[in-house]
Amino acid sequence: MQFKDVLVDAAFKQKLVDLAREGRSAHAQFFLAQPGSHALALAVALGQYLCCENPGEHDSCGECPSCKQFAKLSHPDLHLYFPNCTTKSVKKDPESSLFIKEFRDYVLQNDFHVDINGWLNILEGENKQASINSRDCSDILHHNNTQSHQDGCKVYILWCVDRLYHSAAPKLLKTLEEPESNSVFILISEEPDKILNTILSRTQLVKIPRLTDADLSEKLQQTYPDLSPDEASDIAILADGNYNKAMHIVTDNEDQRVLLQQFEVVFDSVTAMAQRKPLVSVQYEQAQTALAEVVAAGREYQKQYLQLMLRMLRNILMMNSNNSGLLKVTHQEQSVLDKYRGFIHLKQISVMTDLCNEALYHITRNGNSSLIFTDLYFKLVNSLEQPR
Ligand SMILES: [Zn+2]
Repeated sequence: MQFKDVLVDAAFKQKLVDLAREGRSAHAQFFLAQPGSHALALAVALGQYLCCENPGEHDSCGECPSCKQFAKLSHPDLHLYFPNCTTKSVKKDPESSLFIKEFRDYVLQNDFHVDINGWLNILEGENKQASINSRDCSDILHHNNTQSHQDGCKVYILWCVDRLYHSAAPKLLKTLEEPESNSVFILISEEPDKILNTILSRTQLVKIPRLTDADLSEKLQQTYPDLSPDEASDIAILADGNYNKAMHIVTDNEDQRVLLQQFEVVFDSVTAMAQRKPLVSVQYEQAQTALAEVVAAGREYQKQYLQLMLRMLRNILMMNSNNSGLLKVTHQEQSVLDKYRGFIHLKQISVMTDLCNEALYHITRNGNSSLIFTDLYFKLVNSLEQPR
């Protein structure tokens, strides 16, 4: 992995390269990653740069034997640790090295756009808690006490270190306290709250910046040439800097379109009922059909639907309070929003938001979906009938 292929802000990558060139890379770094960021790619690119035989001003050479081994994640001085557990094939004493082939395949096939859920699916650990365990930390100690294979740097990457098993932490601490001069430890996590302070305090914090909508949109158009610039920009906005999420959205784009349609049908009816417009009964039936579809699509879908409602309400709030600069809407959504913005008053939005949050709470708590949505519908009508 070379820096040029890492989907992270260019100036930020150059800072890491500059530190490495000047020999000022910290021996233990904590990469604080945003969800869906290219953190593992960044860690490997840094390791590759440090081990490269002909490193340049901006990147590793990509050509030397060391770079070629890094490209396959098979460099003998690259040590990867990641959550693992007993599985059908490893029935006892699991450790990262026993799953290294599966992990390499997973990472390389997905171009380093990986996340813990994707990895747990590959592991098929039957709901067991996967962790970086004591055997992994013994392995680190062992490598730390032996000579590097190619007389260069040794790179240890601990991916999802928030899953470090607590009783294994002292061994890792010992290694971090007594590192060899040619060792670099890169700990990666999206959840610093779950990591022991004693470990964090021995590492240098490297905050990976959130990917901008523009960068994400550009990358999406490269990956999916069929996407129009507008579509790519819409998806980037929805994904909020998370590339993994963006990829899911591309495949779920159809779902989003349907969700928005269902939102529109229900809100047409809610606003018409509140205004006591004619033709209400037709719209009422259409709305009930849409809600029945939402209920039939299952609990995850119901949550997505309510989250869409909440986002649309927040957007109307922004539009009506002259904060359009903070708006995050897709082109599709904009035309729907324009229909309702003149009608829904600020105070009503607050009430409606509470109602949606309440429904979301009950859905999460396994309440009766059909009742929850029927109840929500009439309460929304009622909230719009109230004097402004
Ligand atoms: Zn090289």
